[in-house]
Amino acid sequence: MDNDCIFCKIAKKEMQTKLVFENDDFVAFNDIKPVSPTHVLVIPKKHYKNLFEIDDKELLGKLLLAAKEVAIKSGLQDGFRTVINTGDNGGQTVYHIHAHVLGGRFHKWPPG
Ligand code: 5GP
Ligand code: ZN
Repeated sequence: MDNDCIFCKIAKKEMQTKLVFENDDFVAFNDIKPVSPTHVLVIPKKHYKNLFEIDDKELLGKLLLAAKEVAIKSGLQDGFRTVINTGDNGGQTVYHIHAHVLGGRFHKWPPG
C-alpha cells in the first residue's frame, strides 16, 4: 500500500468508486476520462508501481485473465484492446499497475 496512491484507495474501498469486477486479487472500475465507449481499468489489490516492479508470473497471468473476464462481462465479444502503460514514456500517469480494457468501437493500429 502506498499511502498517496489513488488506486490503492479505490482497491481498499476508501474512495467510493463503483466496481465493475472484483475477485481475490483484482478490482476493476470505469476510467474517469473514458477514451472509448467501454473503458475499464483492472488493478491488482496489491500495490506495484508498474511492470518494471512486478515479477509475479501468476499474478500477471491472472491480470490478463481478469481483463478478458471484464471484456466478456462488458459485452465486448467483437473485440477489445488491452493496454498497460509503463513509465513516463509509456504514457503512465497513475503509478499503480493497471490494464486498460477498451472496447465498443474500432481501435486502429498503430494507435498514434
Ligand atoms: P495511465 O495513463 O496511467 O495508463 O492511466 C491512468 C488512467 O487512470 C487514466 O486513463 C485516467 O483517466 C484514470 N484515472 C486517474 N485518476 C482516476 C480516478 O480517480 N478514478 C478513475 N476511475 N480513473 C482515474
Ligand atoms: Zn497503489
